[in-house]
Formats: sequence, C-alpha cells, structure tokens
Amino acid sequence: MITHSSDPVLQLKVVETEALICTKCDLAEGRTQVVFGAGNPQADVLFVGEAPGQREDEQGVPFVGPSGRLLEELLAEIDLTRDAVYITNVVKCRPPGNRDPRPHEIDACKAYLRTQLELIDPAVVVTLGNFSTKLVLRTEVGITKLRGMAYEWWGRYLVPTFHPAAALRGRGQVLEDMRYDFSLVRDVLDGNLATDTGIEEETPPPQPADDPQQLGLFGQ
Ligand code: SF4
Repeated sequence: MITHSSDPVLQLKVVETEALICTKCDLAEGRTQVVFGAGNPQADVLFVGEAPGQREDEQGVPFVGPSGRLLEELLAEIDLTRDAVYITNVVKCRPPGNRDPRPHEIDACKAYLRTQLELIDPAVVVTLGNFSTKLVLRTEVGITKLRGMAYEWWGRYLVPTFHPAAALRGRGQVLEDMRYDFSLVRDVLDGNLATDTGIEEETPPPQPADDPQQLGLFGQ
C-alpha cells in the first residue's frame, strides 16, 4: 500500500483505487463491489461498522437502507451530515449471507482501515456495534458495558455505540442510548467533555491492548 503523494486526500484516493480491485481474501469472490468508505476525507468523525450488507454491496456505499437513514437522523441531531463525516467498515467486502467476517478476512483487510485512520486523522472514532468495538479495542467486554463514554484513545477519542440495526430491531432504549452516545461525539467536537457530560477524562481506555500491534491497526 505505497503512495507517493504527501496530500492525505490524494493518498486516500490512491488507496481506495487499490482496494476497489483487491483480491487479498476470499470475500472478493462473492462481492458485487468493494465498499471502501464514503464521506469527507478530512472528517473530524470516523464511523466504523462491521461489513457491507446486501444493499451496500450492490451500491458500493456503506450504510445505505434503513440503518443508513437512522445514522443520518442521529447525525442530524448533532448538527452533522453524512457528507461531513467518514463512514467505513472493518472489512470492505460483503461476507456471504451477511455472516460475521472471519479472522483471516479481517487480518487481510485491516491495513485499509489503519490507512483510513492515519490519513483521515479524525478527532473521534465511533465504533458501531459489538463487532467493530471489540475488534478495534481488542476487548471481550460487550458494547452494552462499553458504551456511554468517550475514551481517550491513541491521541484521539473513541465513542463506542450500538449498530443502528440494533435500534431498528425495535428496542426504544437502544435508540435513546445511541442518542446519548452521539451527544458525546458533539461534546468532544465542541470541547465540552469536562463540563456537562460527566465524562471522566482520566478514565483509561477499556483495552486498546498493551500491544496494539496484536491487531496491527495502530502500531507502526
Ligand atoms: S475484504 Fe478487504 S482484503 Fe478482502 S478482498 Fe475485500 S478489500 Fe480485499
């Protein structure tokens, strides 16, 4: 994944062009198209979901359909739009039958997410759902326990929250919890963490691992 430009926006475009023809894992066989990511390449907020679903695979865009619409509603409530943020997934190709991505597929794909983080350099990373939260944080603690906080994390903030699909499954409390988590994103962006959110800035990250290279996302 070598680029020759010092412009991170251009670099991201180069990496996306590479990814669009990627065959590094067997998910390449069943996909319609690679869903690299979408939004502002200089966004302050980066959302990380799990993997493309059927609609995303068809359209080449992450978080379309009902989950995408709910995400847009939640963004609007904190004065953000889809175009203002960047949205991607842990793996860029749809697993067959929407099964969970397998470890070797995540391993093959993780360099793309790492590069997106480095080049976009967001102030806040929001993990959507148990899968991406556990993966990015290298923790077995579930999303229900982790959410509700903004964690200082590798020079930026991390806000874990539910996947929009969980709110769509009809549990009103999940949606309310997501609203709260999105309000934390707004507070981080506004620099209001210490005033009205109740966030303890000294709270250590849940477990980004003493060895971030274990995942390979954030090490050198
Ligand atoms: S999932 Fe990632 S590594 Fe696998 S083929 Fe798609 S882009 Fe390449």
